[in-house]
Amino acid sequence: MPAEPNPQPTLSAASARETHGFQAEVRELLKLMIHSLYSHREIFLRELISNASDACDRLRFAAIADGALLADDPELGIRIDADPTAGTLTVTDNGIGMTREQAIADLGTIARSGTAEFFRTLPKDEQQASQLIGQFGVGFYSAFIVAERVEVRSRKAGAPPEAGVRWESSADGQFSVESLTLPKRGTAVTLHLKADAREFADPLRIRGLIRRYSDHIGFPVRMRKEGEASLEFEVVNQAKALWTLPRTQISDEEYRQFYQYLTHDNTDPLAWTHNKVEGKREYTSLLYLPARAPFDLWQREAVRGLKLYVRRVFIMDDAEQFLPLYLRFAKGVVDSSDLPLNISREILQQDPEVEAIRSGLTRRVLDLLARLAKDEPEKYATFWREFGTVLKEGIVQDHANQNAILPLLRFAGTHNADNSPSVSLADYLSRMKPGQDRIYYVIAETLEAARGSPAIERLKERGLEVLLLAERIDEWMMGQLDSYEGKRFKDASRGDLELGGLASDADRKQHDARLRESKGLLKRIRDALGERVTEVRVSERLSESPACLVIGERDLPERMRRALESLGQKAPQARPLLEVNVEHPLIRYLDGITDGIRFAELAQLLYDQAALAEGAPLANAPEYVQRLNRLLVRLTAPPAAAP
Ligand code: ADP
Ligand code: MG
Repeated sequence: MPAEPNPQPTLSAASARETHGFQAEVRELLKLMIHSLYSHREIFLRELISNASDACDRLRFAAIADGALLADDPELGIRIDADPTAGTLTVTDNGIGMTREQAIADLGTIARSGTAEFFRTLPKDEQQASQLIGQFGVGFYSAFIVAERVEVRSRKAGAPPEAGVRWESSADGQFSVESLTLPKRGTAVTLHLKADAREFADPLRIRGLIRRYSDHIGFPVRMRKEGEASLEFEVVNQAKALWTLPRTQISDEEYRQFYQYLTHDNTDPLAWTHNKVEGKREYTSLLYLPARAPFDLWQREAVRGLKLYVRRVFIMDDAEQFLPLYLRFAKGVVDSSDLPLNISREILQQDPEVEAIRSGLTRRVLDLLARLAKDEPEKYATFWREFGTVLKEGIVQDHANQNAILPLLRFAGTHNADNSPSVSLADYLSRMKPGQDRIYYVIAETLEAARGSPAIERLKERGLEVLLLAERIDEWMMGQLDSYEGKRFKDASRGDLELGGLASDADRKQHDARLRESKGLLKRIRDALGERVTEVRVSERLSESPACLVIGERDLPERMRRALESLGQKAPQARPLLEVNVEHPLIRYLDGITDGIRFAELAQLLYDQAALAEGAPLANAPEYVQRLNRLLVRLTAPPAAAP
């Protein structure tokens, strides 16, 4: 029977043993791990060693302020005992340890709100769900993938022996804790392995896994020397923090394993960059590009940032100050030789040293992206699919690096049959027509709408490529951009098309002739539409549609206005101008109408349809529908009724 969430602890006087229920999300997680076939069962070991290593890191950090914490047992390390006879595996560390209260809180709940949130959104299908949870760290609870019962003994550094705690659970919805006297500080996690997981009690198998998953954590992992009943221990991992080694001594496989250790992400990273900066300031960085966006990429409280070390001493996780927000997808480690060991988050925010490292790391990530785009376009396409929208924020946030970000952008374009974002600005430039000196683009609600926009009909007809955009950030991004390699960006739905050298003398003559012929018509339409438009003019954009709306070069696009409004900001509504295609049969027909009321009705209809084609909501939809219905009635009425 699963317990109710957090029931009153039951106290038995003899052992002061309490039983607690797991948090609901933890129960879900445990159920998934127990019932679903998990393809990488061995990851539990990485998680437990990672916790042990974190515990050592945290004690070393705490000892900077209070050396006594380390004094009695100064060499930090991890020990692993595999006992095939008993069918157990124990991971022991002499790190920071836990108090009874901490054990209850830390091993009974999921601390990160984002992670708990994620569990609430997991699909009901267990197979699918287990694949999803494999994407990120399942932490301590992964022990239950292979263990039917888990026992934790722990004593906090600095606490007396009798302040130890024993925690135990069989993943049946609850766990128990009791106080205990423990001679040494630190934590021992013992797994009582399931019958089908006995392989993890085999020392040889465990040695192999440590080599694979935990070779380069910064602490020694020891195991009993081979041979029956050996009492001697030996170090079985390299125990040298990977980033401190020269690049030439590290294999790709080691880099990948370290990424998994660092991020708990089982997917190989797309690329990495490992650098040591020497001279005036000294720091080492190892930065990775993941192949998959984390589930919380768009959550405000999502964890991001790098793991910070100072002279090999772990200082903190998620140090956000070392990369700008728009590079939050990058993961990794930075190890500074210059920062003080007692640096706090607050100080990080203002430290000029940190600022300098941040701009160095920013360049590193941008260079890495450029290299990937050039050498491994397929991987870059994966990157763009997962993180392109985040990178676009850089155009808005980081003007200093705009020229480095521009070549990294990818767009959908009219020269491609589908809407995949595969066009770089360099591609665009290489396909420009003789005489063209604008980079044309159009932004709409969707890529389909952009592709079908009346504003680009003539451009398409002339074989000019148009970049298609439809993300929320695009309006902001394009608003920040002036030119690329001397070619100005041009929104095809605003102002003049600026065809420049593309328009021939014949084109211009034809346009002038149309203007002369249509003067009267334009004025009549203008009078009929009144305040709704600033101007009515002959279009050079249209070839198929009868009319379209155009806003001025400096006007706020309707989409942007609505976006601002949804953020609670007041923004002025731009009055568009109406462009008409004077060759279009509908416009010709309009020209022939003498009845003023009918003319006005059709002109209004024309305007509303132009607005609809843009994807804009109609100011007065019922009126539009009535007008259209009156027209349809006239069309379908029996001839006798017609005037
Ligand atoms: P995470 O490591 O991401 O915080 P885990 O599920 O792996 O999540 O661990 C949960 C928490 O339990 C840790 O944050 C830590 O507070 C505590 N913990 C787990 N293992 C140990 C350990 N060996 N020593 C001290 N604390 C531990
Ligand atoms: Mg962990």
